[in-house]
Amino acid sequence: MQGLMQDWSMTLDRVLDHAKIVGPDREIVTRSVEGPIVRTSYGELWTRARQASHALREAGIGVGDRVATLAWNTARHMEVWFGAMGIGAVLHTLNPRLLPDQIAWIANHAEDKILFVDLTFLPIVEKIAGLMPTVKTYVVLTDRAHMPSTALPGAIAYEHFIAGRPTDARWGGFDENTAAGLCYTSGTTGNPKGVLYSHRSNMLHAFAANQGDAFGLRAKDVVLPVVPMFHANAWALTFIAPMAGAKMVMPGAKLDGQSIYELLEEERVTFTAAVPTVWLMLLSHLRDNKLKLSTLKRVVIGGSAVPEAILRAFEEDYGVEVVHAWGMTEMSPMGTLCSMGPQQEELSHEERIKLKLKQGKTPFTVEMKIVDDAGADMPRDGKTFGRLLVRGPSVARAYFKNEGARNPDGTVLDAQGWFDTGDVATICPMGFMTITDRAKDVIKSGGEWISSIDIENIAVGAPGVANAAVIGVYHPKWDERPLLIIQPKAGETPVREAIMQFLNGKIAKWWTPDDIVFVEQIPLGATGKINKMALRETFKDYKLPTAA
Ligand code: AMP
Repeated sequence: MQGLMQDWSMTLDRVLDHAKIVGPDREIVTRSVEGPIVRTSYGELWTRARQASHALREAGIGVGDRVATLAWNTARHMEVWFGAMGIGAVLHTLNPRLLPDQIAWIANHAEDKILFVDLTFLPIVEKIAGLMPTVKTYVVLTDRAHMPSTALPGAIAYEHFIAGRPTDARWGGFDENTAAGLCYTSGTTGNPKGVLYSHRSNMLHAFAANQGDAFGLRAKDVVLPVVPMFHANAWALTFIAPMAGAKMVMPGAKLDGQSIYELLEEERVTFTAAVPTVWLMLLSHLRDNKLKLSTLKRVVIGGSAVPEAILRAFEEDYGVEVVHAWGMTEMSPMGTLCSMGPQQEELSHEERIKLKLKQGKTPFTVEMKIVDDAGADMPRDGKTFGRLLVRGPSVARAYFKNEGARNPDGTVLDAQGWFDTGDVATICPMGFMTITDRAKDVIKSGGEWISSIDIENIAVGAPGVANAAVIGVYHPKWDERPLLIIQPKAGETPVREAIMQFLNGKIAKWWTPDDIVFVEQIPLGATGKINKMALRETFKDYKLPTAA
């Protein structure tokens, strides 16, 4: 017997329709790429997104066509986003931090038809336009007054592109499983792979990520997504904030400590989210200038593990609650969040800090487990490491064009429908997951595993250390041993013995790095994470003093 409820297709255009009804005057504030702060509202954004839809249709874009953006978080980017998704086109966020050739490779793989580009990235696109034959139209996200002369064929200013367009473009009316967004993984192994979100998967993910113990956003919140829209939909905030009717503050091109601080204070931000490197910049700006945070209540930190020093600074020095989150592009991206539940009420401050360094629990709709190399389930005892598998309605089952397929039908799942995250983790009896490493970064010493992340998290707290990375280096007896790579704070010269002393007692003796090297800059990848592949390459012939 079938239920007798309405067939309300879960397409994302409804999100902006809703925001326009419940919060037509609620602001979206942007630090524009041109410079000034620009204010718009959900009502206006809706109107302009409809005009963008109309212009896209005129440019020959229809259901399933890929609409690429190379853009910062701005209101204009949101207009193109909803304008494309509303007519069933696929919004493809290109990551400007990749190398130009990689961007061209991805645009070709995606067969993007039109590209919206911020002024900042125009030089990149001018360089690679000849390599992207599928792109027929270039739109520069600016107005006519700021439109530079450009070598891009037929390039048009965005304001000109949508000017005077009608607002009657039809949104929705297609199946909720229609593709809505495309985002390529960073491709640390092999070529990048496209994750193709559907309207339904993004909608369910937004509901899941906004549960009370997850983001829990409300209309009265003011949200600053520092995490870029090209990094897995700004962790769904581009859907959740309009769903909640919350005010949005878009940082544009300026993500340095001072610029973020100004927005946090001047716009009275209550909730923000980004990777740890952004928070390092903000915290050092706060410390150097003896500043306080007067309205910020919660900060979500993910993308890589939260260093203890950042967690303590936010919670102890500035009274801001940290929510540590883990996820990946393939999970839309939210996988777990570290929120305190009823069992944690009795914990002391120090016990809470320790717990908050874990990646946390799954929100409803995400399932996870850990398995050994043969695929057998491992115990949830908080000690046993295993490969972390996940499943749920917002987890990828295949990559675009069936890249990396494991099965004849193109999917990448195991027989029970589990997706292998490539992470190694423990799960404690209370359900809190701890990432111990990427499967390929774990250091295999004498048949036992050493977590590079655990050592890094502690080492960044050592005096004079700005950033720390640990990689496995060849050792004749143990196979691999950890090498600690340190990037000193500007103007400081940390010493080897002091760092070793600092680690002493904080990690198991046999995890102690066999050596420390100092570098000017630890290389970061396109999503702000430490580029271990580059480090492994640099130190591939490194001779540990213990190897003699
Ligand atoms: P991406 O798809 O680029 O977001 O990368 C996803 C990967 O980033 C995950 O598989 C993890 O290896 C890593 N990651 C994300 N969040 C965290 C976190 N909170 N702690 C440790 N690693 C993380």
